Amino acid sequence: MPVKLRSRSPAQSVLISGAGVAGLATAYWLDRFGFEVTIVERTGSAAKANYPVNVHGAAIEVVERMGAFSRLWAARAHKPGLRFVNADGHPIGSIASEDLIDDAPNRHFEVRRSVLSSALQDLTRGREIRHRFEDCIDVLKNGQAGVEVRFRSGAEQRFDIVIGADGMHSITRAMVFGPRAPANRYLGFCFNVFFDSASQHSSPRWSSGRVALVGDAAHTPSFMSRKGSSLALIGAYLLAGELAAHVDPTDAFASYEGMAWPFMRLSQMLAFKEGGSLLMPRAREGLDARDAILAAMQASGDASSHSEQWGQTNSAFKLPDYTRLIAN
Ligand SMILES: Cc1cc2nc3c(=O)[nH]c(=O)nc-3n(C[C@H](O)[C@H](O)[C@H](O)COP(=O)(O)OP(=O)(O)OC[C@H]3O[C@@H](n4cnc5c(N)ncnc54)[C@H](O)[C@@H]3O)c2cc1C
Repeated sequence: MPVKLRSRSPAQSVLISGAGVAGLATAYWLDRFGFEVTIVERTGSAAKANYPVNVHGAAIEVVERMGAFSRLWAARAHKPGLRFVNADGHPIGSIASEDLIDDAPNRHFEVRRSVLSSALQDLTRGREIRHRFEDCIDVLKNGQAGVEVRFRSGAEQRFDIVIGADGMHSITRAMVFGPRAPANRYLGFCFNVFFDSASQHSSPRWSSGRVALVGDAAHTPSFMSRKGSSLALIGAYLLAGELAAHVDPTDAFASYEGMAWPFMRLSQMLAFKEGGSLLMPRAREGLDARDAILAAMQASGDASSHSEQWGQTNSAFKLPDYTRLIAN
């Protein structure tokens, strides 16, 4: 999809809150499009969580365009997927990763989240991106001409644009839309292993004035969808590309929302519809049905019927081409 060129001077300054998958990918692309990028991360380094994440569909194309595909592909898990056990810990079935997501074999892989984060960090390290670790936004004033930010450390700075990439419990989102505004949808499960609830966030708007949201801050699909990292990579690419393609950030945000919202929402709905019932049935009957399906799948060796919609949703999304906007 061709995009119009934006005026490039002077370079606009962007603050990204959060150095997760979405924050690092957005920083990488914005830097390549010629923006002055600062990332603020409340922890001492980019997130190191070690659970497996899937990269598939249009997100494969994003990591290819970033030059990270070979490294991630080489580090992919060779026996990925899900294993189910009963209350006594005895195995009752498993589903291979390729059966969870119905993409072509080389258009989907699973890696440790730490591997994905390290690859993204390395991509941003050699570039002109400023990092503020162990700090966060304390006060944010979203004005017409810029965003005044006061950090917890006491430092103050004005940015042209602020991006909230600070995850499912986004503080940036609360600062811009108010603490009650986010539409978090609790999926009805408590998942102690991961110390969090299985919930989704969906809001009809991901931006206000000069502030926008990306990744889980905008559209948490819940870990049950197995799509969060892929959606974060796709959203980061679209947001950065649309900012590069427009002079006015509010036009860019409107275009980003228009492109990404229907796709992200559909992914969330599928997470609720299929992922929830597959991973964590709500009642005894659901659990029995799930286990019967697993047993049948083990017997027949076919799990693919459960995955068609996942793969189709993600693979169907066509990425715009922003190559002409790359500045460095
Ligand atoms: C248990 C679990 C299993 C998952 N499994 C999968 C899977 O199989 N496949 C998949 O694709 N996805 C999976 N996901 C989801 C996936 O990890 C996320 O959807 C994806 O990482 C989105 O990244 P993000 O950058 O938007 O948010 P996050 O990864 O949450 O990153 C947010 C970053 O912001 C930082 N931060 C938070 N608050 C502030 C603040 N106030 N100021 C500054 N920094 C801040 C955090 O420290 C963090 O570094 C899983 C998630 C969980 C929890």
